[in-house]
Amino acid sequence: MRRRDFLKTGAAAALAGGSTMTSAFTGRVSASGRGSDFSLWSWVSFKREYDADEWRRRFSRLREAGFHAVLVGGGDVELVSGAAQAEGLEYHRWFWTMNRNGDGWAKENHPEWFTVSRNLESSLEKPPYVNYYRWVCPSRAPVREYLSRRVGELAANPGVDGVHLDYVRHCDVILPRGLWERYNLVQDIEHAEFDFCYCDVCREHFAALDGRDPLEIPDPPADEAWRRFRWDSVTEAVRDLAAAVHEHGKPISAAVFATPAEARRLVRQSWDEWPLDRFFPMLYQHAYGEDIEWIGECVREGVAALAGGGGEGGPRPGTPLNAGLQLRWLEPAELAEAVVRAREEGAAGVATFEMHGLSDEHMAALRGARPGAP
Ligand SMILES: [Zn+2]
Repeated sequence: MRRRDFLKTGAAAALAGGSTMTSAFTGRVSASGRGSDFSLWSWVSFKREYDADEWRRRFSRLREAGFHAVLVGGGDVELVSGAAQAEGLEYHRWFWTMNRNGDGWAKENHPEWFTVSRNLESSLEKPPYVNYYRWVCPSRAPVREYLSRRVGELAANPGVDGVHLDYVRHCDVILPRGLWERYNLVQDIEHAEFDFCYCDVCREHFAALDGRDPLEIPDPPADEAWRRFRWDSVTEAVRDLAAAVHEHGKPISAAVFATPAEARRLVRQSWDEWPLDRFFPMLYQHAYGEDIEWIGECVREGVAALAGGGGEGGPRPGTPLNAGLQLRWLEPAELAEAVVRAREEGAAGVATFEMHGLSDEHMAALRGARPGAP
């Protein structure tokens, strides 16, 4: 049986029910056909009501299903990381990077750090789309230093196995197509109120490079140099953060938009130029009005973009990519299919969003989708 058919059969077995599935993932398993490991990760939201024993029970369930690592947001590092590591899972700290809505100190002490739209409105005072969209500007040296210090402190913690960045970008200038109706918007062009950043520092830096004030560009969305400036400003900040984490000998990863091309277009994120150790594109198909097949297509695109490396300051050739999967939009059978497709297209693993949404049926589907499942 060819490998492809074999994997498909594995998924089919998972769909048929759990009774014939006796074995579980035994951790990282060689699966991509390229000699690399295929790993299961999950984002995990902190729950205040859980004690150490409860966390261990939750993580033991993940471990039994073959999970390798958790990306944990919020809460006490020692409590949750102690439980994860005791169950044999890596603990990566999930860090909100440029969206600093939860950062009372920055909001209070540095309102000038926050990004400014083409309408000259601060995302601190007038957050676009939703009231938690308050973003700091990656062009500002004090912002880069502050964020670098924060991720450096996390990486210095012995309980932290790695740092995982989220919201590493500007505010969405265009929302994914599947979300337009939810916000009652038509975004076939870049509207000024969602177009960032026109703060003093961005304007000065761009003028020093290019000679023009971005506010005086007649059609800013069409201007290649101005687009590139925003991509580079995020990328340069990420390079500082990567250095701060690598200094402690720890890996750094990020949740990113679906493909490098979409990420540049929607959120000014040129992630295939970042020197990170693993990428987690969020392949949440319904947000894009797409289906499971699209998940595979995005994986193929991302893996191809990373294959050759990013050159000076970029990722190493073949940096692993885990497909981020939204459980809310995946029935167990669909989850199995998404895992198989991601693997066929060269993903190094998947990551589920998020742990509390993993039903027993999802777990059974994951076990069945593993290579070699009966
Ligand atoms: Zn700015």
